[in-house]
Amino acid sequence: MTTVLETLDKGTSYLTKKGIEDARRNMQMLVAHQLACTRMDLYLRFDQPLEESDLAPLRELLKKRGEGVPIQHLVGLVTFHRRDFKCDGRGLIPRPETEELAEWLLKNACPTLPASPRILDMGCGSGVLGLTLAAEIPAAAVTLADLSPDALALSRENAAELEVTNARFVESDLFSALGEETYDLIVANLPYVPEADRPTLARELAHDPALALFGGPDGMDIIRKFVPEAARRLAPGGWLALEIGIDQAPESEALLGTAGLTEVKTLNDLSGIARFPTARRA
Ligand code: GLN
Repeated sequence: MTTVLETLDKGTSYLTKKGIEDARRNMQMLVAHQLACTRMDLYLRFDQPLEESDLAPLRELLKKRGEGVPIQHLVGLVTFHRRDFKCDGRGLIPRPETEELAEWLLKNACPTLPASPRILDMGCGSGVLGLTLAAEIPAAAVTLADLSPDALALSRENAAELEVTNARFVESDLFSALGEETYDLIVANLPYVPEADRPTLARELAHDPALALFGGPDGMDIIRKFVPEAARRLAPGGWLALEIGIDQAPESEALLGTAGLTEVKTLNDLSGIARFPTARRA
């Protein structure tokens, strides 16, 4: 007989041996997923014996996690700004930094927007940014755009799950399918990883769509093309907010300034990296 606690201990040491950071939390997430309960519930169930019908699938999950399959794909969900989003290989796994951007926008940009703002999430992936804004601002009309039909399918499923009805989905290579319509807020977490970094990335990143990660030799190719096109489509007083990679702030700020925007600044993420350039149309 194996109890929940013994299973947690054994799994944690297995994952530690496999070089997984945060092994205990990963193991708790896998066990909670298998038992369809929360990580907190596990503490009340330490002495509960586990049946082979739970242990066999858990061994399978543990093996995959040890091989570098991201925990988010194994449990199939990511919590982003208090909502659960379905997560699989069709879209980039939502990152904690991106949640910081959503929080900053809701606190600082959204209160300045018109009563029924038009919002665009360019490169929406699983939809975390656009759908969070749509859910938090029911009067908004939110457009989620992505080049990838897979990502759009995932973001549509997330919208249905969250019962978000004020969002539309457009397959578009940047603005190619969007025309000249303007927006009060444009957010974009575009691919920005330098191609040169590919060999050194954590093995988990091999499970993100490459299309969602890489932005050319220095990572800036897509942002360079996007910023002037986005700036033209901001309504007066409208905001543009980006997520970028390490050392990309100086060029991003220059692009925003050259595109004629004001109040250009870059917010740091919680690790102190200049991560979120923001700017407004006067
Ligand atoms: N932040 C992601 C990473 O470091 C990259 C996401 C992106 O390119 N937008 O892996």
